[in-house]
Amino acid sequence: MATKARTFIVFLGPPGSGKGTQAKILEKKLGLPQVATGDLFRYNLKNKTELGLLAKSYMDAGELVPDEVTIRMVEDRLSREDCAPGAILDGFPRNLQQAVALDQMLAPYGGVTVTPLFQVDDEVVVERISGRRICRNCGAVYHVQFNPPKQPGVCDVCGGELYQREDDRPETVKRRLYVYYKQTAPLIGYYFAKGLLEEIDASQPVDQVTAALLAVLAKHGVAV
Ligand code: ADP
Ligand code: ADP
Ligand code: ZN
Repeated sequence: MATKARTFIVFLGPPGSGKGTQAKILEKKLGLPQVATGDLFRYNLKNKTELGLLAKSYMDAGELVPDEVTIRMVEDRLSREDCAPGAILDGFPRNLQQAVALDQMLAPYGGVTVTPLFQVDDEVVVERISGRRICRNCGAVYHVQFNPPKQPGVCDVCGGELYQREDDRPETVKRRLYVYYKQTAPLIGYYFAKGLLEEIDASQPVDQVTAALLAVLAKHGVAV
């Protein structure tokens, strides 16, 4: 059977470490779509699908949505035409079971290509998440201090209204960080053992993080 190597970049790192911001920058540079499970859930929620309604209670609580539905959603997304060259996975996998499922999905295409780990201190995470604002219309991500829109509350890209995510409130952020350390951080060892882990200092300004990412991607054969 003919198989073709594709590029699958897995962004690892705590909530608020800047994964989505970098995925949106790299998707243009690399020609690979961003596949962000959080965005997919929020899209389903906005459109009141069954999946969206199921995910809502978990998201509001800062817990992971059950693996079965999450894995099926990703499988479906990766089978779409735009993922033919590969994808930038942002927010998936988030536990060992999801990582194993991803390996099975990608086995015909050479598996995961590289796993950049976004390293930032918890204080930075809290600072970034508390100032995060999202466009209700196009999903563009801003920060009231570090990446402010030209006009407060209005999206530079599309003029849409900016809002704060329900789960970006301090109580839920604490829980999400706990879930990250408990369930997602073990993936660091998992990918390290496969020789795919690359640590990135994600506390730097956005363009410096992009430069650091491009350097490790090149090391793993992913060129712009
Ligand atoms: P952040 O990048 O700030 O952590 P996300 O948008 O990635 O936030 O995720 C928001 C919420 O969506 C998570 O707290 C969780 O409830 C749900 N979610 C996202 N990705 C996954 C996943 N891979 N498995 C289970 N739940 C997920
Ligand atoms: P994640 O997808 O990992 O949850 P985001 O990309 O949504 O993280 O970033 C979280 C917040 O931090 C957003 O408000 C974003 O504008 C801001 N941000 C992202 N990268 C940086 C950076 N390098 N320096 C300062 N703020 C950043
Ligand atoms: Zn917008």
